[in-house]
Amino acid sequence: MDDYDKLLERARTQIPEDAFKRSGERFKVPAVQLMVQGNRSMWQNFQDVISVLNRSGREVLKYISGQLGTAGSIEGGTAIFNGKFTAEAVNAVLNNYVLSYVICPVCTRPDTEIVKEKMAYYLHCSACGARTAIRPV
Ligand SMILES: [Zn+2]
Repeated sequence: MDDYDKLLERARTQIPEDAFKRSGERFKVPAVQLMVQGNRSMWQNFQDVISVLNRSGREVLKYISGQLGTAGSIEGGTAIFNGKFTAEAVNAVLNNYVLSYVICPVCTRPDTEIVKEKMAYYLHCSACGARTAIRPV
């Protein structure tokens, strides 16, 4: 019985480490694929990016279009911005978003979610348990 308990305990302590490794491999933000059409910029792999980030499309779009200083919308899996932008410019803004709203500043893992409590927003990390106050998107 003692051995069984020890085994169980060891199994439990091993779970998080494996989970971290898996999430580390999973977290590769795809490079932004952007195509300019007329006076609009179509971010073609938007859906792929937000599913890796585990964030809502609306939230990401709000941040990116705000930083670009333009209006944006989502059609299907594509984000569309008014105006001509380069993939590099959108990538740079996306990197800022990831650093501010996805990566945990304590353990640098991406296993986070944004939690709203009363009037404040927090980045809650499921990897290390840290809670970091953030500005609303
Ligand atoms: Zn963390």
